Amino acid sequence: MATEGSTSATRSRYPLAARSAKPDGSRIQVGAVTLGGPEFVLIAGPCAVESEAQLAAAARMAAQAGARLLRGGAYKPRTSPYAFQGLGEPGLALLAAQGQALGMPVVTEVMSAEELPLVVRYADLLQVGARNMQNYPLLRALGKIGKPVLLKRGLSATVEEWLLAAEYILSEGNPDVVLCERGIRTFETATRNTLDLNALALVKRLTHLPVLVDPSHGTGRRELVVPLSAAALAAGADGIMVEVHPEPHKALSDGEQSLDEPALQGLTKTLAALAPAVGRHLGDAPPRLDTRGHLSVYRQRIDHLDAGLVRLLAERARIGLLLGQRKAAAGLPLRDPQREQEVLERIGSHEGGALDSGALRRIFQQIMQETLRAEEGGRP
Ligand code: PEP
Ligand code: MN
Repeated sequence: MATEGSTSATRSRYPLAARSAKPDGSRIQVGAVTLGGPEFVLIAGPCAVESEAQLAAAARMAAQAGARLLRGGAYKPRTSPYAFQGLGEPGLALLAAQGQALGMPVVTEVMSAEELPLVVRYADLLQVGARNMQNYPLLRALGKIGKPVLLKRGLSATVEEWLLAAEYILSEGNPDVVLCERGIRTFETATRNTLDLNALALVKRLTHLPVLVDPSHGTGRRELVVPLSAAALAAGADGIMVEVHPEPHKALSDGEQSLDEPALQGLTKTLAALAPAVGRHLGDAPPRLDTRGHLSVYRQRIDHLDAGLVRLLAERARIGLLLGQRKAAAGLPLRDPQREQEVLERIGSHEGGALDSGALRRIFQQIMQETLRAEEGGRP
């Protein structure tokens, strides 16, 4: 097994994941962020999305610390069925909205193949949690989507099992798999898990896929997150994912391993000092539209926003369809001109920036017409 790197791709048990398939390593794009390149990518956010205010505060902390992706769980795999299980779809909507507001792609966990169609609408990077690393129907379903996947290592998974799990996704046609070492279960109980940096250094050699490290779950202790992040950077990780919370003592999950604002700032300072020594650099803050930048930065941002708009429009049409079905069941007419007028007036009173109120109204008139057309089509 440990000699994988020296065997030929044809003899490998995971020919698509093996380093020999792409000796220079894969670069995987999540929105405007590249994983597996020279940038050491910081992913930060709360363990779980708890409320709009908590998420907004955590996301602001993350963005200010230079995090490039925002994390947050809406579906939480909790050891106890009585523990907070996450907000579900409303949590996903909050996360996506916050990510868009800050120009940060979002990563969130999907726990089953059944939930995938929903989660994929909101996530830019789909996380498979440690407990689901060998959920083969889920892995196969993720192999058929057009978005990147973050595959965490199982609590007791060997390196080979982990790479074979990645192979499941790759073999279904999705080439965008990122690995994440998050600590394994050992005899040691002084820390929540044992962060296996052996595996990090080994897997970087065995596979071309980018490899991240999660020192929050890897240690379970806030005070160990900075030293283990530094170790991960030095040992060749392509980035880290850390949990942050504006008030860790009030967190509904994993408060003891979540960084508060000063600790997060300390983390960035340490990583920024260390990165050049190992030939890496930390990412820039998310592009600010009022600063001069390269054209592609603006284009990527616009592409990201367009994708978000399409997602929102699809969601609006879906809700409209449900509303139309309710109206039909109640024998009510589909169209309500007075309500349409009210909606347009409200839209026109919003601050549209470069778009004046007339432009906003025209855009929304069109959206409403198209939604009604869809509703009429969907009428039984
Ligand atoms: C998480 O990152 O939210 C998480 C639950 O981690 P893991 O699956 O590694 O326990
Ligand atoms: Mn957690």
